[in-house]
Amino acid sequence: MVDNKQAAAILEEIGLLLELQGESPFKSRAYYNGARTIEFLTEDLTKLVEEDKLKELPGIGKALTEKIAELVLTGRLAYYEELKKAIPSGVLELLRIPGLGPKKAGILYRELGITSIGELEYACKENRLITLKGFGAKTQAKFLAGVDYLKRFQGQHRLADAWPWAMEILSYLKDCPWVVEAEIAGSIRRGKEIVKDLDLVASSREPEKVSQYLTGLPLVEEVIALGPTKTSVKLEYGLPLDLRVVEPQQFPYALHHFTGSKEHHTALRHLAKGMKLKINEYGIFHGDELLLCQDEKDFYRVLGLDYIVPELRENTGEIEASLEGRLPDLVEGEDIKGVFHVHTNYSDGANTIEEMVKGARDRGYRYLGITDHSQSAFYAGGLKVEDLLRQREEIRAIQEEYPQIMIFHGIESEIKADGSLDYDDDILALFDFVIASVHSHFSAGADLTQRLIRAMSHPAVTMLGHPTGRLLLAREGYRVDMEAVLEAAREYQVIIELNASPARLDLDWRHLPKAKELGVKVSINPDAHRVEELDDIRYGVLMARKGWLKASDVFNTMGPRIVRRYLEERRRSWVNKS
Ligand SMILES: [Zn+2]
Ligand SMILES: [Zn+2]
Repeated sequence: MVDNKQAAAILEEIGLLLELQGESPFKSRAYYNGARTIEFLTEDLTKLVEEDKLKELPGIGKALTEKIAELVLTGRLAYYEELKKAIPSGVLELLRIPGLGPKKAGILYRELGITSIGELEYACKENRLITLKGFGAKTQAKFLAGVDYLKRFQGQHRLADAWPWAMEILSYLKDCPWVVEAEIAGSIRRGKEIVKDLDLVASSREPEKVSQYLTGLPLVEEVIALGPTKTSVKLEYGLPLDLRVVEPQQFPYALHHFTGSKEHHTALRHLAKGMKLKINEYGIFHGDELLLCQDEKDFYRVLGLDYIVPELRENTGEIEASLEGRLPDLVEGEDIKGVFHVHTNYSDGANTIEEMVKGARDRGYRYLGITDHSQSAFYAGGLKVEDLLRQREEIRAIQEEYPQIMIFHGIESEIKADGSLDYDDDILALFDFVIASVHSHFSAGADLTQRLIRAMSHPAVTMLGHPTGRLLLAREGYRVDMEAVLEAAREYQVIIELNASPARLDLDWRHLPKAKELGVKVSINPDAHRVEELDDIRYGVLMARKGWLKASDVFNTMGPRIVRRYLEERRRSWVNKS
């Protein structure tokens, strides 16, 4: 049975759905008014329907009378169900954002294809709302703040959102006069792309004072538990933080223990057992005897192991590799020599070419590969041929002024529904390099794996951009056979992007060992839409480390001259052939 309250709610939702579809406001207002009338009825709706008295109520016309009757008598309403089917449920979720009403949500859905809060966030970051009619920079900033607000309450946080908090708390702890040592632990230290909370470990001879100190920090919003060794608090936006404070000689064991992962620990304990040793958060013991360790390096040495960095502690073969002395020398931030995949205000970036060039140069990079969106990415201001010829000229002029950094002119070309690229070959041949990316139609019937492979088989393609299309905490990656894609990358000599944007971190680090095994090069690209996002490279480096990559596995660790020669030869071998 449908009671008055339920019926009112359904009418209300119909009004909303009509607004989202962009119907005239009068149409939805009729449903809102009907909902209100029914909400305040004192009589039973079913009775009114049976006595055919509905039409006497204020604001209930003929169409509404019929629909309410259908709903009340059959328990269903075909019209409502159809409307619901036409609009993805995530679009309704957009209404949770403060100041975002159904009219605007409908435009975002219809014009930009936004069907979730995460997609809205990404669109804001790519400045898609600035030029959208009825929106603008202010609205965009407001929605972005609203998204942030919501996201932080879901109990899961992207690494990059939690990272600055962890660093700030750590620096406070290091300033605390009673702290001997302090370090970030937990999944952040291991570089997991999603974290639930922050874990920190400190050592002190006066642990209570350190716990008190933490709870007094301005960033702390709420104290959940305050104990001598463990304190739990919530930071602003509800981010939970646990601090363990131990005696100085316990620090390495505690740090190791609270860094995890569980799987790594289980495997280590098994190994220790075979050596008649016992490991816990207080130490490594032989019987009752504590085996002294100065730091984590000692910790592993005692177990007969080479030091295993936190990023690798996932029990995916690191213990075996350590035992056999074949742990890789992982890539580091300073190995990165240059940057690919950067947007400018030619498409949806916030900065000019020159500003991006300066930003890269000031960060010590030796080359910069500019890639704006291609023409069929109309929602992102994709470049028409005349725009990119103009851009080419501008890059040439800027290159003259900035000889310290090599500028490559590329494009982020759409992979269209059939796997073909934007622009004719004679235009594609103008670019120094091409990143091929999927941005739309990812649920379209065509097999995505084949679509990606077809795109990669085009000789102009240098890199495959964000291969799975995932948006962390917002959208699953496309269902692609990644192994087949990586095999194709090897066959066609295509570099795979590790998109370092904190919202993507795509290719997933779990696939990187396969790329490495196949000899496919990975490029750590920030996909920067503003100068500051060049710094996102650090998250990409962290993921590359989690994926066991060495500097030599990463394309953009190569120097500018080698990269230029590589790109030129690739381009020449194609252009000369055709
Ligand atoms: Zn892209
Ligand atoms: Zn991009």
